Amino acid sequence: MVEYPRTTIEFHDMFASENDCMRYLERIRFDQIFSCPHCRGTHARRRTDGAFRCLNCGRNISVKSGTIFHQSHIPLRTWFHAIWEMVSHKQGVSALGLQQTLGMRSHATAWDMLRKLRQAMVRPDQERLSGLVEVDETIIGGLRPFTFGRTPTSKVLVLIAVEDKGVQGMGRIRLKVIPDAGADMLERGVRSMAALESCIRTDGFKGYLRLFSLGYGHTMIKKRDVKDGSDTTPLVHRVASLLKRWLLSTHQGAVHAEYLQEYLNEFTFRFNRRRSRSRGLLFYRLVEIACAKRPDIHLPRERKKKKSR
Ligand SMILES: [Zn+2]
Repeated sequence: MVEYPRTTIEFHDMFASENDCMRYLERIRFDQIFSCPHCRGTHARRRTDGAFRCLNCGRNISVKSGTIFHQSHIPLRTWFHAIWEMVSHKQGVSALGLQQTLGMRSHATAWDMLRKLRQAMVRPDQERLSGLVEVDETIIGGLRPFTFGRTPTSKVLVLIAVEDKGVQGMGRIRLKVIPDAGADMLERGVRSMAALESCIRTDGFKGYLRLFSLGYGHTMIKKRDVKDGSDTTPLVHRVASLLKRWLLSTHQGAVHAEYLQEYLNEFTFRFNRRRSRSRGLLFYRLVEIACAKRPDIHLPRERKKKKSR
């Protein structure tokens, strides 16, 4: 694995110049094996300007091509600094906070960078949850202090899935904006978040009744099954309250419904790596994910031969 900075001082030492960032990106992308994003060719030679020429299709491949940094006018150093800000603060960073820290003139640029990074935070090959998975919906927005958009009624329904690891507590989570709580939508949501072998635990809502016939194990906890006042889906409610607190603190509740899924991506990224031994490791992971995320260019995953220089 490529090394990563462990402290802010180390970060600034490692990435003092644009060239340092380019070399780091190159190590993450092509350390062992070159892979052409256009033709999957695995042979290349390095050009004098630092890019590669694919020996199969003859295209020049910049180390940034096929990543979210491609065709960005923002220096890689600024991108890396934004990623560091995002992961080194436990609660993340707002666009205004980023703009101030990086001394950027434009709030819109900071906002765009954070959006791109949030979009990238879900891996294209994301695994579905497994084992015992608790699922429930929660409402974000609508009532004060959460008021999305112009209308006070713009509430957003979010489906939450949490792995129940028993004595070890919660495992991974998945969060998804859904348009309504009809059975079709809930089933589609569950299918995208949990693997078929898993056992889904829900409350007694009838929208979940068909999960069993879809091939899932299904346990329903109804109100009468729990002690007075107890929660039927306590793990989901814990995640929902952490999510709402995060939206209120870091982002002051100023999250537009249209962009909520992106914020959910960020929350999920951080939550699922909450036991990570180092913030720097999150930095490495996010740069790595940013390299794999470009819907218009398919990056092949099978890499066979070593690159030739
Ligand atoms: Zn090629």
